[in-house]
Amino acid sequence: MNDSDGLDETRIGRSVRSFGAFLQDHPRVLEKAYTATHNAIGVLDPIIKRIGYERVERLVVGAERLSKEVIFDCKMCGQCVLHSTGMTCPMTCPKNLRNGPCGGVRQNGNCEVVPEMKCVWVEAFERSQKMGTYGDEMMKLNPPVNQRLQGQSAWVNQLTGIDQITPVGWVAMDDVAVVHA
Ligand code: SF4
Repeated sequence: MNDSDGLDETRIGRSVRSFGAFLQDHPRVLEKAYTATHNAIGVLDPIIKRIGYERVERLVVGAERLSKEVIFDCKMCGQCVLHSTGMTCPMTCPKNLRNGPCGGVRQNGNCEVVPEMKCVWVEAFERSQKMGTYGDEMMKLNPPVNQRLQGQSAWVNQLTGIDQITPVGWVAMDDVAVVHA
């Protein structure tokens, strides 16, 4: 990994990643932090709207990138679904899957692409089992990622609602009617 991929392979980089992994293995703490951030952003929305979403994005995107990269190895997809994926970033999956695991997960629970790495989705599922509020969301199907939002602030996109727009033709499983013969 190099600087352009995120934290480099220095001792500091490794320590920071260990700290992030430690926090991720205690997802209840992260879940509470997520809820607090989500609520705070909602309360501040009228002020942010008055200032202008684009202007606020320029101010906060750096802080979002830094804080989420340290803890989640965030790739700044611009449409955060951490609470639905066991507080584990789906974009750290080498296949960038938004739902998983894929059929290639190994018998020991490791990744097909990076054999020495535990499957991101196995970790996501295990962590979701420790969550008190959003753990059940792990069973929901996430829509495809919108690559046009790459690099944007997910916090601001949550307020504008652009992160909720799904591709034409995509239907959430909750909206699929099951007809029994
Ligand atoms: S889901 Fe997107 S915004 Fe959330 S941590 Fe992963 S890359 Fe970052």
